[in-house]
Amino acid sequence: TGTNTFNITAIVKHFNIAGEIAGAEAFGNGHINDTFWLKNQTSGCPDYLLQRINHHVFKDVPGLIENIRLVTAYLNSKMPGEDSGKSQKVLKLIDTTDGELFHRDADGNYWRVYLFLAGSRSYDIVLTEQQAYEGGKAFGYFQTLLSDMDPQQLSETIVDFHNIRKRLRDLHKAIVENAAGRVDEVNAEIKFVSEREKSMAVIYDQGCEGLLPKRITHNDTKFNNILFDADDKAECVIDLDTVMPGHVAYDFGDAIRTIINTAAEDEPDLDKIQINIPLFKAYAEGYINEAHAFLTDAEVESLFLGAMLLPYMQGVRFLTDYLQGDTYFKTAYPGHNVVRARAQFKLLTKLEEQATLLRQIIIDTVAAHKSRYKEEQN
Ligand code: ATP
Ligand code: MG
Ligand code: MG
Repeated sequence: TGTNTFNITAIVKHFNIAGEIAGAEAFGNGHINDTFWLKNQTSGCPDYLLQRINHHVFKDVPGLIENIRLVTAYLNSKMPGEDSGKSQKVLKLIDTTDGELFHRDADGNYWRVYLFLAGSRSYDIVLTEQQAYEGGKAFGYFQTLLSDMDPQQLSETIVDFHNIRKRLRDLHKAIVENAAGRVDEVNAEIKFVSEREKSMAVIYDQGCEGLLPKRITHNDTKFNNILFDADDKAECVIDLDTVMPGHVAYDFGDAIRTIINTAAEDEPDLDKIQINIPLFKAYAEGYINEAHAFLTDAEVESLFLGAMLLPYMQGVRFLTDYLQGDTYFKTAYPGHNVVRARAQFKLLTKLEEQATLLRQIIIDTVAAHKSRYKEEQN
């Protein structure tokens, strides 16, 4: 879907945009929405970011936009002044001439416009510990600001997104149905999943029992969903489409999953899949530096479980799609989904090998921050 497919000029007219837009350019490398950079030709007027929201993934776009409206308003109400040393920004949605925050065109496409954050950049791959630390801080701060917002205000933009019991039910169904006739190829992977079903359901079950609080979480904490400024400081958490009630461990786990893998998500050579422990430590330190004050003991315990769960869950999803005949994830070749599943399970195996060390890093970091915090309070 290139720029030419849509009449961008006609769409842009529906939004309260300052100045004259010179043109629209496909922008970024998001996988879900179509994103365009709207360049302003009027001096003193800002650039904007236009997005066509993927309404196949997000069935309730008005609900999604309402979530973003509520969350950005809450973040703004909590964000301290510029002189506090905290310099993070909040995404700003631009309203339409009808006073809405999205426009639905005649073809049923949903469009929204954000203020463009000029001079910022995102990283698909983490290069340094400093970046990992900054990323941890950004998501930790984001969660902290939202930690006392009532999660019930938000709708679930993707129902059961992180419900591992549901994901496992889907896998079992796919095994029974064997739609693509591939079950016999993946007996080892199915066994790997079965052996861990109980331990991987702990976060979900503790949530149901009320032992782990529901918070407002980001739910897509990939590293490129943070914008960095020119000094490589985290400037803004972006991509708020999946912000909804969840557990903090899911955000922690998904960030770790994408940061510490030394190889690509679909690396076929499993020997190349190693974990980068210094990046784990740096992210954990940045995150806990911000989040320690609100995390309960049970949540602290859950963080490492989250780091194990997210690769597991992602692997279960790839495996399910492989068995169903590759109907959900885009694939580049016939075995792509099973390669991805194996890569996630290898990552999990690596995490399991280092479990004692990684868990200790979290516990020690939290303990250090809690005692420093106590001293400061006295
Ligand atoms: P994903 O695959 O992560 O779900 P997406 O399709 O939902 O991505 P976004 O993450 O919202 O898309 O945006 C795509 C890219 O556009 C981002 O990676 C970032 O580089 C850029 N971007 C997003 N919002 C802004 C903004 N307000 N200002 C400048 N650049 C932005
Ligand atoms: Mg994104
Ligand atoms: Mg997204």
